[in-house]
Amino acid sequence: GHPLFRDMPTTIFEKMSIRARETGAINLGQGFPDGPGPHEVLEAAAHALLNRSNQYPPMMGLPELRAAIAAHYGVHQGLDLRPEEVIVTSGATEALAASLMALVTPGDEVLVLAPLYDSYVPLIERAGGVAKVITLTPPEWRITQEALAAAASDRTRLILLNNPTNPTAVVMREAELALLARFCVERDLIAICDEVWEHVIFDGARYQSLMAFPGMRERTVKIGSAGKIFSLTGWKVGWMCAAPALAALLARAHQFLTFTTAPNLQWAVAEGLGKPAQWFAQMRDDYQASRDRLAEGLEAAGYAVQPSAATWFLSIDLPASGIAMDDVTFCERIIDEAGVAAIPVSAFFPDGAVTSLVRLCFSKADGVIDAAVDRLARFR
Ligand code: PMP
Ligand code: GLN
Repeated sequence: GHPLFRDMPTTIFEKMSIRARETGAINLGQGFPDGPGPHEVLEAAAHALLNRSNQYPPMMGLPELRAAIAAHYGVHQGLDLRPEEVIVTSGATEALAASLMALVTPGDEVLVLAPLYDSYVPLIERAGGVAKVITLTPPEWRITQEALAAAASDRTRLILLNNPTNPTAVVMREAELALLARFCVERDLIAICDEVWEHVIFDGARYQSLMAFPGMRERTVKIGSAGKIFSLTGWKVGWMCAAPALAALLARAHQFLTFTTAPNLQWAVAEGLGKPAQWFAQMRDDYQASRDRLAEGLEAAGYAVQPSAATWFLSIDLPASGIAMDDVTFCERIIDEAGVAAIPVSAFFPDGAVTSLVRLCFSKADGVIDAAVDRLARFR
């Protein structure tokens, strides 16, 4: 067949959501909340739809949204971004594609940490790059100087990171970020940081962006997503922030990928980003309560659960739960026999290195979580 079918297989999220729709299973696979989303943000979008222009917004994004993103990161992460350093994209997905298209020259090596989000390696390869995968190991998933040094070469130009990390639900520790910053500066690398989960962190943690570390301000592309911040995954409003020299390159790719994104959604996101800190804290508390509900339910049913410090996900550890199946087999069986869809974590490893974990999404109503736990308890 065509090489694309090999190089770009159907994403696991779509595969499992199709199976969930076919079987009527409770879908704890693909990550999305089942609530309506914040009412004022939805209302702002409806208002802008009816009262503002629906023609092409400026290519770099609505000025009001670019200013809101820069201001938001000043308040929440102590960054000093200027609106000119922000480019609005159609989701983080476009920001990832645009950054790699803009910054990879054929033959460049790009470092990535596995487990990794499933679009990274296919995008790097289509841009002509070579993905150098550093495989981290459970349960700590810790980044070490040795692993970074062993994977780097004279051809390394970029490192692509995801912090907080999907699917491990880890927030990188300060020492790891400092290590990554030193490594990038020493080797003159650009860091593309996929920070879509920056607001969904638990247990009182304070989020630190790699961009804030010494030497990183000029060499970081910081990617964010309104889909995650406002629990509206279908909106596909994202952005990339970078110093002017980098932003100028990113804009060239963005102009030919999508050029722009829906103006009413941009207005609504601009308004939402200005909400008081308490609003974001409440959102975190709500998701943390859902995390605890799912974790406690699963543990009571005899499942061993990995810690989740961020994201909408936690993982079941199969061997530690006394289950002698690999993750793919377990996911196949629970979708058919228990009526629950999940994601096999091996899908996040280019070489399928880890097959012991199954990811479940907890951004769901209490009743949905309870019903899923009940089904998984009976499956045991
Ligand atoms: N990166 C990561 C790590 C993600 O988890 C997701 C979506 N869950 C995306 C990128 C895509 O974000 P968006 O929907 O804004 O394109
Ligand atoms: N990022 C979401 C997840 O991890 C899925 C996004 C998608 O379906 N492309 O589940």
